[in-house]
Amino acid sequence: MASLVLKFGGTSVGSAEAILLVADKVKKLKEEGNSLAVVVSAMSGETNRLLDLANKFKAEKGKAVDFLLATGEQVSVALLCSALESLGVICHPMAGWQVPIQTDNSFGKAKITEITPDNIVNLMDDGVVVITGFQGVDQSNNITTLGRGGSDTSAVAIAAAIGADECRIYTDVRGVFTTDPRIVSDARKLDVITYEEMLELAGLGAKVLQIRAVEFARNYNVKLRVLSTFNEDPGTLIIDEEEGMGMEQALISGITLKKNEAQIMLSNVPDRPGIAADILGPVAEKNIEVDMIVQNIGSNGIADFTFTVPKLDFDETVMILNNLSNQLGGSIISGDDKIVKLSIVGVGMRSHAGIASKMFSVLAAENINIKMISTSEIKISVVIEEKYGELAVRCLHTAFELQSTISK
Ligand code: ADP
Ligand code: ASP
Ligand code: MG
Repeated sequence: MASLVLKFGGTSVGSAEAILLVADKVKKLKEEGNSLAVVVSAMSGETNRLLDLANKFKAEKGKAVDFLLATGEQVSVALLCSALESLGVICHPMAGWQVPIQTDNSFGKAKITEITPDNIVNLMDDGVVVITGFQGVDQSNNITTLGRGGSDTSAVAIAAAIGADECRIYTDVRGVFTTDPRIVSDARKLDVITYEEMLELAGLGAKVLQIRAVEFARNYNVKLRVLSTFNEDPGTLIIDEEEGMGMEQALISGITLKKNEAQIMLSNVPDRPGIAADILGPVAEKNIEVDMIVQNIGSNGIADFTFTVPKLDFDETVMILNNLSNQLGGSIISGDDKIVKLSIVGVGMRSHAGIASKMFSVLAAENINIKMISTSEIKISVVIEEKYGELAVRCLHTAFELQSTISK
């Protein structure tokens, strides 16, 4: 008998039929003697629908928006519990605040600070506990949400808190693939992937797992698996690099595309010590995550400074910079929100030269202009025009021979 946390994403609870399928799966696992906590997302499309409603009043983030968005997951919990009860399974519905899943108060991207496991553990003995993903509660009892895709993080954090044997992320694809199988139809499913690679892939746009979920799993040693609700494939297991020793290491394990990014350019910035901190400090203070940063080598006492932020934070960032005009001298601020970040990831890169140049030549052959480049030990990222994103993924996937040889 194992203690398991099962998380079902939006498509998996997207209709009455899907919910019944999930309930059936849960029932079987319970009958096998497992002790279960189930975490669910909102029905597919629901979080977007709620966001669109909020946007009608120009509300994009804040206390009220989180209060609204959190309702999506509550509906799914209620429906799954009803389906389970119809199959004769005892279950206990639970909202984030009832657990409680304590978070900070950054609405829209709250971080989990503590989970008290007792309420879950006590109820798991006599039935299945079904918990809302995505939501938490702050110190002042406000409902918070954990950022898009946050139910993955709820599940892993709950698994860590209750000391579960495994956390299973059930979704609408068979596991983690070499790239989004919706962009490249012959993308290959990976049986295992290291935490390090998965962290990069998740951070760089592979939305199959939220990055914080992977961080939690690595930091708290949670055994994490991604698999499909709709078949019996064992999915993808996330493993430590040491566990992967001896296995043949692919040069590139994945390609990602991160949409919803925007580029901000400052030209004629005074080239003096402290300028980067002057620009980025006030942006960070507003909890805006700055991603790629490039400063060119200054000449004649001025330099150019470029960075990327989430598209959602684009207007606010430009406003912050406009308010800094005194410190920034005669800098000219411009922006471009029609960009994407394209990345290739793989631990095999450590021991192979020439991967970056191959990537750049593939893009050049397609006449795709690179606007920014950043590299780390196991990844290379470039910013390119949004309209070339999917074409670039397909070309690189073929060039690096990542396609599946098995017919699906
Ligand atoms: P859920 O609602 O179950 O949380 P998501 O839509 O958040 O599901 O994540 C699953 C989706 O992630 C897949 O349908 C797929 O299109 C996308 N995806 C992007 N990159 C990858 C990848 N490398 N491997 C698998 N899926 C990916
Ligand atoms: N419902 C939320 C979203 O759509 C959380 C999740 O599905 O993980 O982002
Ligand atoms: Mg998701």
